[in-house]
Amino acid sequence: MARELLHIGSEAPTMRYQEAREKGEPTFVVLGTGSSGNAYVFVVGNAAIVIDNGFSYKKWGEKMAAAGLDPKMVKAALITHTHSDHMYGIERLSRMLKVPLYVHPRLAEEPRWRKGTIVRALAEPSTYEGRSCRGAKTVLIPGVCTVESFSTSHDVPFSLGLTLSMKGSGVTKRFSVITDTGITTDAMVRACRDTDALFLEANYDEGLLEIGPYDDKLKARVAGDRGHLSISQTLAFMHELEALRVDDSCMAQRQDIYFIHISERNNTLECLEFRVDASYKGSSAWRMCPHGARVYPMEVQDAR
Ligand SMILES: [Zn+2]
Ligand SMILES: [Zn+2]
Repeated sequence: MARELLHIGSEAPTMRYQEAREKGEPTFVVLGTGSSGNAYVFVVGNAAIVIDNGFSYKKWGEKMAAAGLDPKMVKAALITHTHSDHMYGIERLSRMLKVPLYVHPRLAEEPRWRKGTIVRALAEPSTYEGRSCRGAKTVLIPGVCTVESFSTSHDVPFSLGLTLSMKGSGVTKRFSVITDTGITTDAMVRACRDTDALFLEANYDEGLLEIGPYDDKLKARVAGDRGHLSISQTLAFMHELEALRVDDSCMAQRQDIYFIHISERNNTLECLEFRVDASYKGSSAWRMCPHGARVYPMEVQDAR
């Protein structure tokens, strides 16, 4: 019989989530992740921010309802990049809810946006060259959070990773999303070194991609510098992050890692769990977000 997987994120609201909601502290729900649609909601009090929506507006609304969240809470939307699994329903969401859509500053200038979409520019992506971590440029979304962005490397221009800083009931939480990138960078490590919850792509296992159903061109695209993160890359990033956190004395602060955008064809939850269990020696707790599943924050006592 197959071994039971221990590291799957919870589809039911966790105590930690419910407590944060009751207290008005920042928290989140993953509404779904993977190649058939990505949507993250970050909530503080009665306000919420959406990062990516690869689902139709209707389906997104159903997912919000299933999570017990009212779309009217949403004050702004953001996108990491313009692939349809991240932005299919985002413009409609922006128009229907009359909320601004924050995008890369170059994308904001493009004529691509449908009439009625309120497009706003994020700050220039952080590079950290010659700057301290604290010098990163951020954009303020009034009443909800500040947003820092950093470049990702993907086969569509102006792709971003994002770090949100949210404050509610005297508690500040930082959330980072790194998805759809063929490489990791110093800027990414720095932008999420003191983040409370990191949503990190763990797209494919190299061996499963090799023997999988994709043709050679698609395999090269996925594994290329402008494709997706392999489990080895994800693990190397986690170890770099751990080292920087030790150097920068961030270790007193708990950090949880949620694996996202896990390929259904070139990866399995079993394979990912096995490889991370075998290789990751850092201090962060981690959970896997299965394709399309709703995931709430892991419990405080959840060990690795
Ligand atoms: Zn994607
Ligand atoms: Zn993409």
